[in-house]
Amino acid sequence: MKAGSGAAPRPAPAEVRLFNTLGRRLEPIEPIEPGSLSLYTCGPTVYNHAHIGNLRTFLFEDLLKRSLRLLGYRVLHVMNLTDVDDKTIRGARERGVSLDEFTAPYIESFFADLDRLGVDPADVYPRATRHIPEMIEMIGRLIERGVAYVADGSVWFRIAADEDYGKLSGIRLEEVRQGARVAQDEYEKEDVRDFVLWKGAKEGEPAWDSPWGPGRPGWHIECSAMSARYLGETFDIHCGGVDNLFPHHENEIAQSESASGRPFVRIWLHAEHLIVDGQKMSKSLGNQFTLGELLERGLSPRAIRFALIAVHYRQKLNFTFDGVRAGAAALRRVDEMRFRLAHAAAPAAPSETLTPRLETFRRDFAAALADDLNISAALAALFELVRDLNVEIEAGRIGGEDREVIEAALREADSVLGVLFVDEAGREAGGGTDDAEIEAILARRVEARRRRDFAESDRLRDELAARGIVLEDTPRGTRWKRRSD
Ligand SMILES: [Zn+2]
Repeated sequence: MKAGSGAAPRPAPAEVRLFNTLGRRLEPIEPIEPGSLSLYTCGPTVYNHAHIGNLRTFLFEDLLKRSLRLLGYRVLHVMNLTDVDDKTIRGARERGVSLDEFTAPYIESFFADLDRLGVDPADVYPRATRHIPEMIEMIGRLIERGVAYVADGSVWFRIAADEDYGKLSGIRLEEVRQGARVAQDEYEKEDVRDFVLWKGAKEGEPAWDSPWGPGRPGWHIECSAMSARYLGETFDIHCGGVDNLFPHHENEIAQSESASGRPFVRIWLHAEHLIVDGQKMSKSLGNQFTLGELLERGLSPRAIRFALIAVHYRQKLNFTFDGVRAGAAALRRVDEMRFRLAHAAAPAAPSETLTPRLETFRRDFAAALADDLNISAALAALFELVRDLNVEIEAGRIGGEDREVIEAALREADSVLGVLFVDEAGREAGGGTDDAEIEAILARRVEARRRRDFAESDRLRDELAARGIVLEDTPRGTRWKRRSD
């Protein structure tokens, strides 16, 4: 899938407001460089296939980026790939392969998922293992500034040296207690709350040389070092899932601001959790679906994309198969309107109300997204437009002649949604009722006639007629054609 390229850039609206986790309030975005936004989003740890919870976050970020572009901004987007950490190292060891060999298929699967779901690729996907020198450099600076220290071949961030630690998550230092992920006896650190920047090498683990001996970077330093490399020490927007808020993002702030002495990020955005059938996702419940599993169960990429973007990012998304199907049915209403429009006769006189109606839609759709990505209001504007256009087609006030301007407005909206001008498989398509869909309905009708279910057969004939398809039953089977007006 691709974003509609036909959308003309529009001037930035007076105000795009987003809910900044830092400070917990709606704020207007004020780009560092007028008209441009720098965006960093935490990428996957490539030790297995992404599950729908991960995909929800990636699709929220896609919706954000596409919305900002519609609203007139250029966006430079960086997303990291975590290809070295405890899980990737364990996985590689269990299979007896190198780290790169182990992560390669998961990196490929990640990109394939994004592609199937129509996600606009980031500008850069830096890999942790390819940016070790940048991380070593930043750790060196933190040691120089006295906020990090070496102990037993590892390097730790001294939390007590960071006065505003906790400003993102609101956590208080006293609450950061023992029992964190690293067992006490494994590493020597000054304070149990300190977190690791560089882990001294252990037997059999992949390691890189550093001034503190062989080892590997901690997870948090990756994002600080790679965002600085590609976006600078201060950039506009940083996103992730709520589960990254603490400690990952809190630690990123501590590292980056201590190293540069400058504010790290202007606006932090976090996508809420996804739950499945009202329940938390977990391995034991078997509901941590991957995209591949959802497709096997008969959901289409287009329907899944729509389901994952249609709920506001700060709300929990309850993923249900019925919910996805209901969303797909709503999209088909748009397809059907477009198909009807394409086959409607030209009206006697050009419509006077069409242009202002489309302008209202464009304005409402963009204004909704500018208001902290209010997707519900944006979709309401779309479905209201479809309803109004259906009335106009029915009344013979608009027809095939008007198709071009209507399609242009829809394409503009679809440069954000990415679900209208694609087929069910997510491939770019004109939309409407295509030949494959007609053939599928015909096949169902043949099957109904074989069962001598003539009521169903007639119903399918009517369904096709409503879409402008005329059937002709012949001794050698059924032929169909589009009604010519
Ligand atoms: Zn990160």
